Amino acid sequence: MISSRFLASKLQSPDDLFPRGRIAVIGAGISGAAAAWLLSDRHDVVLYEQDQRIGGHANTLDVSMDGREQPVDTGFIVFNDHNYPHFTALLDHLRVASQPSDMSFAVSLDNGRMEYSGQGLSGLFAQRRNLLRPGHWRMLMDIVQFYRQIIAFSQSHDLSHMTLHDLLVRFGCSAGLTRGHILPMAAAIWSTPIEQVLDFPAASFVRFFENHGLFKLRNRPRWRTIAGGSRVYVAALNAAFKGETRKGARVLNIARSEDGIWVKAEAAPLNAMTVPCWPAMPIRLWR
Ligand SMILES: Cc1cc2nc3c(=O)[nH]c(=O)nc-3n(C[C@H](O)[C@H](O)[C@H](O)COP(=O)(O)OP(=O)(O)OC[C@H]3O[C@@H](n4cnc5c(N)ncnc54)[C@H](O)[C@@H]3O)c2cc1C
Repeated sequence: MISSRFLASKLQSPDDLFPRGRIAVIGAGISGAAAAWLLSDRHDVVLYEQDQRIGGHANTLDVSMDGREQPVDTGFIVFNDHNYPHFTALLDHLRVASQPSDMSFAVSLDNGRMEYSGQGLSGLFAQRRNLLRPGHWRMLMDIVQFYRQIIAFSQSHDLSHMTLHDLLVRFGCSAGLTRGHILPMAAAIWSTPIEQVLDFPAASFVRFFENHGLFKLRNRPRWRTIAGGSRVYVAALNAAFKGETRKGARVLNIARSEDGIWVKAEAAPLNAMTVPCWPAMPIRLWR
């Protein structure tokens, strides 16, 4: 007789749910590289990357500074333990070291006529003339008020159809706060020109700031960066990957038939596929 416990343990086995198969992963950014690495323990995985380099937006360049080479991350830069528990566990597993980052924020407007940084009083008044500018003091008071009240405001208003511009107008943000703080901060976080960041969805803006503790004036999360740059974890992940990586292999077309899923240029059908990228891409590829 088969006990229900035995059955339950068999049913929970990933091998039963999805027996060993051939799987394509399209795109070798962190999402694809991590999925491919996890799947390659139990399946035959081919990781397709259109570029000659793996890592996608995790990319590090060497820049010569004062006669020595300095690794500089051009995409992914920082993380923290609180918001990135799986990523932190992945780094621990791969034995990739990280180090604290100072994650500073500074604004320079109108060709340097108005400048400040978030590094204490000396940063806020780095331009000493700001001590005498009522507009600067007003902006600092507005920042404190905005950070204290925005979460309650977002809970009592429906943000689902609002842009960041709508939110700032509805909240009654002053021009100084908007131009001198919120827009530069949002533009820096989302690597977006200031003119375009006003169209950003208000709900996503509030959720991101709240999740990442950015509305807090104190006890913000401690941001960390990968020692040696993000290419170090990309290389570690790739070294642990047991499948095959095809660089310079742009997937043009994916299709389903009775035998399985076909990726253009593959000679045999696959059992599954993961396309870890922005949603429009698989729709474009699927035929
Ligand atoms: C300037 C900047 C700074 C950032 N800073 C941070 C930060 O500090 N912290 C943070 O958490 N996040 C940061 N991010 C965001 C982070 O880098 C991304 O969220 C993350 O790297 C996305 O990884 P991904 O694997 O989902 O996509 P991607 O890295 O975009 O990877 C997708 C891969 O798919 C490949 N591909 C696409 N189409 C095909 C195809 N048809 N065939 C084959 N291959 C294909 C692409 O070449 C690419 O390699 C930053 C982003 C930018 C741009």
